[in-house]
Amino acid sequence: MTESPAAVENVVILGSGCAGLTAAIYAARANLEPLVVMGVEAGGQLSMTTEVENFPGFPDGIQGPELIDRMRRQAERFGARFEAGDVTSVDLSVRPFRFEIEGEPRRTRTLIVCSGATARMLGLPGERQLIGHGVSTCATCDAAFFRDQEVIVVGGGDSAMEEALFLARFARRVYVVHRRDELRASKIMQERALSNEKIEFLWNTHLTEILGERQVEGVRLWNHASGERWEMKIDGVFLAIGHVPNTTIFENQLEMDAQGYLVPKDPGRSLTDVEGVFIGGDVHDHVYRQAVTAAGAGCRAAMDAERYLERVGEAPQRVAGATSK
Ligand code: NAP
Repeated sequence: MTESPAAVENVVILGSGCAGLTAAIYAARANLEPLVVMGVEAGGQLSMTTEVENFPGFPDGIQGPELIDRMRRQAERFGARFEAGDVTSVDLSVRPFRFEIEGEPRRTRTLIVCSGATARMLGLPGERQLIGHGVSTCATCDAAFFRDQEVIVVGGGDSAMEEALFLARFARRVYVVHRRDELRASKIMQERALSNEKIEFLWNTHLTEILGERQVEGVRLWNHASGERWEMKIDGVFLAIGHVPNTTIFENQLEMDAQGYLVPKDPGRSLTDVEGVFIGGDVHDHVYRQAVTAAGAGCRAAMDAERYLERVGEAPQRVAGATSK
């Protein structure tokens, strides 16, 4: 296909994580020449992970970035195209749909939204400015910078345990700061973290301030059960307090829940209230959030997009057996 700003795409996929890449493989095999807009966090959350041990087909595990790279190559093999950048606006009230990649106008017949979710921040002053200077939302990316240093991890879920365990391989000491006296994490992750000698838990504790102007130098903490407030010298602050779905551009256009996750028209399907718009992955899943469930959802979205294009008579000539296997 000749690329031109005036061309109307068959399928545009927002996001290049597990869901988006699986949608790209299926849409490409259906001869739809999908365009994947890679987004700000290209490769999604798997690209910031190390070992993935629960993706079927890899009995010895696989590194997250390698899994993503393989999926991308698989999609490219069937004709998927990739563009860096983010979709900055979208208009679903016209057909073909209009959208912009970093301000450049484009059009598409269908849209598959796999834009995922982004790490949540605490909202403390200076927190964002200190990202990369001692504040991080990704231990697997940054842990090696904290060799023999002292760090805290905020959160009590699986992510916090995973980050703490990973950091413990590098850091001298890891403090898990959790606002309750009970962890949300799965039993197996709890046990691993609680039995690690390098990890210490600070229960019922809030991080109230990050100290340091150009680099993290310490933190202020508050134990709301005892009322104690104290200052601690620390080298790194890792935030593992959940994620926010990347759905801002769809406000007032697609149905969302109170947290901003997109809501499918029918449970278990990828269809939305706007015909021709489909969803997959963490952007609508705050329950399972697994690579394999995201992949499944991406597959569903691509199959639904293909069926929609066929139904409205806009599907290009089909490659036999494309998505039916
Ligand atoms: P999560 O389960 O939502 O946990 C977020 C944690 O952060 C909770 O402990 C929460 O405290 C705390 N928190 C939230 N907002 C906070 C705030 N403003 N201040 C202080 N603490 C705050 O998120 P997650 O750990 O990222 O996990 C998300 C999903 O991915 C889960 O389903 C999880 O099982 C899955 N996951 C699985 C694995 C694995 O299996 N290896 C790894 C990572 C994630 P409360 O507990 O008090 O609410």
